[in-house]
Amino acid sequence: MHIVDTHCHYNMEPLYKDWQTYWQKAKEHGVVGGVIAGTQTETVNRAFVINAKEPNLLVSVGIHPSHAHEITPSQLDEAAKTWVTKKFHAVGETGLDFYRLDRASTDFDQQTNQQKMIFRWHLQFAQTHNMPLILHVRDKAEDYDAYWETLDILEEAYQGTKPFVLHCASGPADYIQKALVMGGYIGFDGNITYPNANEVRDLIKSVPADRLLIETDAPFLAPQTYRGQTCEPWMIVETAKYVEKELELDLNQILENTQRFFNHSFTK
Ligand SMILES: [Zn+2]
Repeated sequence: MHIVDTHCHYNMEPLYKDWQTYWQKAKEHGVVGGVIAGTQTETVNRAFVINAKEPNLLVSVGIHPSHAHEITPSQLDEAAKTWVTKKFHAVGETGLDFYRLDRASTDFDQQTNQQKMIFRWHLQFAQTHNMPLILHVRDKAEDYDAYWETLDILEEAYQGTKPFVLHCASGPADYIQKALVMGGYIGFDGNITYPNANEVRDLIKSVPADRLLIETDAPFLAPQTYRGQTCEPWMIVETAKYVEKELELDLNQILENTQRFFNHSFTK
């Protein structure tokens, strides 16, 4: 069994200081690779440090929407000058996250506009460098603006040929359907193992087998058995076993999707 964790954060604490130990443990569980998603310039740099030592831990370059207010497009241009001299396989995580924003606050529009501007920068960058996109999208259950606006901006501003993944799937079913029509992939995490996660399990059932990816988002979102603890990258195995046994999904197909999406063979 070859398992790849398509979204994890060896570049964040508490994982980064001991990333080699966590990676070793993951390999002992049958994990053959991973994709380290950038969230800030610092975590992108750390991902490059890790990739230099472990080529099957790929780098995705990007600024998380919740950090979009900390950077300007020209600072991003500057950071990207170093990024392009190194090896990376995706752009992200980028997107829109209105989950923690206060809609009543006077700077709500300013914050969401800033996120949209930084998101557009990433779309342009991915297009220029012909890279797939890792999207982080989250919003509160009662108003789904971030989900729909993400797809609107993609439709309008992205002319790239490489696909995108909606990492850590959430949101309304018709939004997921629209993303699939647009050629998107959908990433599922340890939370599909939670007893109350029927909504996410319904989403996974709506995704064609050739568009599905699995991920830990470690150190976040430990699967049910370890819920509340630090999610360690080896725990992708728990999620993989769950989708195989409970949802009857084929892990070889998921590996194939992963290698196609990131244009990288983890098994050679
Ligand atoms: Zn993440």
